[in-house]
Amino acid sequence: MLRGYSRLAASGINRMVRVTDVTLYLFCPRKLYLVGFLGIRGRPTRESIMGKLAHYAYLRASILKITEDRVEEESVNIAREAVEKKLTEGLSDTEVKEIVVKTLRFRAENPITGGVEVEKYVESVRLGLNGQIDLMEEHTPVEVKYKSRAEYRDLIQLTLYTLLLEDVYGWDIDYGYIDLLKASRRLRIEVNNRLRGDALKLRDKVQETILMGTYPPARDKCRGCDLKIECRSLFH
Ligand code: SF4
Repeated sequence: MLRGYSRLAASGINRMVRVTDVTLYLFCPRKLYLVGFLGIRGRPTRESIMGKLAHYAYLRASILKITEDRVEEESVNIAREAVEKKLTEGLSDTEVKEIVVKTLRFRAENPITGGVEVEKYVESVRLGLNGQIDLMEEHTPVEVKYKSRAEYRDLIQLTLYTLLLEDVYGWDIDYGYIDLLKASRRLRIEVNNRLRGDALKLRDKVQETILMGTYPPARDKCRGCDLKIECRSLFH
C-alpha cells in the first residue's frame, strides 16, 4: 500500500497546497484561480446556507455523541446556537428545525463510541499538503457533505487527508467515511492504491498549475457554480 509516510508519496516540488485546492481544481481549474489565487468567494445561496447549518449541527452532534433519545432536546439547543451564530439567515423556523432534527437523527444512527475531534488541521511539508478534516472518529477521517451522492473529488479529498494523517502520525488507515447529510447516508470508502496514486498525481498537477500560473481550460460545470457572475465578468 502507498502510505502517506512512504518515500514514494513525498512531493518533488517545494510548494504547499491545500487539499481543497485539489478539489477546486477537479471541479474547475478556473475556479481554483478565482478562489485560490484571487481570493474571490461566492455569495451565500439558500443551498449553501442549508449546507452550513446541517454541517454545524452534524459536528455539534458528533462532539455530543448524540443518541436517539436526546435528539429532540439537543435539536432545540443546537438550532438556538445556529441562530445566534447567524447560520440560518433566510430560513424559516420550520426549515431550521427540520434540517437540525434530520441531521441529528442521522448522527444518532451512526453512534460514536471512541474519541472524536472536529475540524482537525493537518500539515505535511514532506507531502506539500495541508488541510482541515471535518471529523475524526478515533483514527478514521470523515468527510461531511451536504449532498445526496459522493463525487470523485470527494474521494480524492478523503484520500489526501488519509495520506496526510499517515505521514503526520505514522498511522495505517485503510478506510474513511463520507457522510452524505442530504441522503442521511454513510459511505465507507476503501482508500486503495488506485485512489492514493490518483490523489498524489493530482497534488503534483495542482502544485505545478499554481507555480506556473497555467490554469487549464474551464470544465463544463458552470450551472452548479456559485462564481458564475464573477467568472463571466472576468473572462467573457
Ligand atoms: S462559472 Fe464555470 S468556468 Fe467559471 S469558475 Fe464556475 S465552473 Fe468554472
